[in-house]
Amino acid sequence: MSFEDDVKVGDTNYDDYVIFLKRRIRQLELQVRTLEADKERLERELSRLRMEMSRMKQPPAFAGTLLELLDDERAIVQNFNGPRFVVRIAPWIERDKLKPGSRVALDQRTMAVIELLPSQKDPSVLGFEVIERPKVTYRDIGGLRHQLKELREAVELPLKHPELFERVGIDPPKGVLLYGPPGCGKTLMAKALANEVNATFIRVVGSELVRKYIGEGARLVGELFELAKEKAPTIVFIDEIDAVGAKRMDETTGGEREVNRTLMQLLAEMDGFDPRGNVKIIAATNRPDILDPALLRPGRFDRLIEVPLPDFEGRLEILKVHTRKMNLRDVDLRALAGMTEGASGADLKAIVTEAGMFAIRARREYVTHEDFLKAIDKVLGSEQKLAQQIAIHEVMYG
Ligand code: ATP
Repeated sequence: MSFEDDVKVGDTNYDDYVIFLKRRIRQLELQVRTLEADKERLERELSRLRMEMSRMKQPPAFAGTLLELLDDERAIVQNFNGPRFVVRIAPWIERDKLKPGSRVALDQRTMAVIELLPSQKDPSVLGFEVIERPKVTYRDIGGLRHQLKELREAVELPLKHPELFERVGIDPPKGVLLYGPPGCGKTLMAKALANEVNATFIRVVGSELVRKYIGEGARLVGELFELAKEKAPTIVFIDEIDAVGAKRMDETTGGEREVNRTLMQLLAEMDGFDPRGNVKIIAATNRPDILDPALLRPGRFDRLIEVPLPDFEGRLEILKVHTRKMNLRDVDLRALAGMTEGASGADLKAIVTEAGMFAIRARREYVTHEDFLKAIDKVLGSEQKLAQQIAIHEVMYG
């Protein structure tokens, strides 16, 4: 039996039922709208996945060079030194970015230009880290007063006051070599210097030069100096220079030949370099003992500065630098500096961060001495690590 059979107009049951139905309709309408929105979202997701799938299925493209733009739709391209082709340009490519010499990806079947590739001059492609003007300043360096003074004299003074050197008639040093154990502030000093003289900082890692781009090391060194000149004033920082400039041995393996070619290019670049120009080279190594003497000859890296493990005062200053913005409560930095002999600047920075983490975990807004003690334990572990660091330091750097 239906509801209508049971109730009449004006009946309260009937009115209630109408209200009930209206509410139900509104609920169902809302449900429909939600389902429609869901459907739309899923359709969008589906089409995105389909596109992704078709992209994954695409065969590999050829890499080529654009030689000439004929009109908006066609260009002459070449891959390697093969024949030249007149091909179409895919509609999604921004025309104004295409220039003769651009590196492009070419469709395998039609040779159409389907993508504009980053130029080889792009520093990120070359593996260089380029910072227009690093944010680090001399205030961020703890200790190392003597080292910083020497570095500033060798690099900052000739950049800021070249006339002093001209008047006296001497050439400023061409390259400075910073040596010492890892994590003691070599990179930090070079960055702060670049900040002070308002220079571009280009960092390149020696081991990457010879390993990441096999057969390209020498070319990369050339490009590094090109880029440095373009962006001058520039501080070129060559980290792990021992990977490129280790003493030359018999050229038995291809790997060694590669290293030597890279080194020869580096020496050639340095020799052809104006010491009074505004590109300065700072190199860093943890292994000064294995460097090729050719690198250390006058006119090359002829200023050597040791950056050792920090002593008590150094550690205290490094701790002060890194806790500058922290909310400390009853923390005795002198005591902490006293118990961290053998720790590097990087170790001390890690201790400060770790102490902060202990405070956060305890839901506190301030850091206590106890947090630091736990952090020292965590970062340096047993005293063995420190003893090891000190022993290595003594053997390596005397
Ligand atoms: P590597 O030989 O491994 O390249 P490095 O000597 O270049 O090491 P940096 O990269 O300069 O070491 O230091 C690593 C980090 O340790 C720095 O970013 C900084 O936070 C901290 N640090 C090291 N030395 C000091 C210092 N003297 N004062 C303040 N912080 C320091």
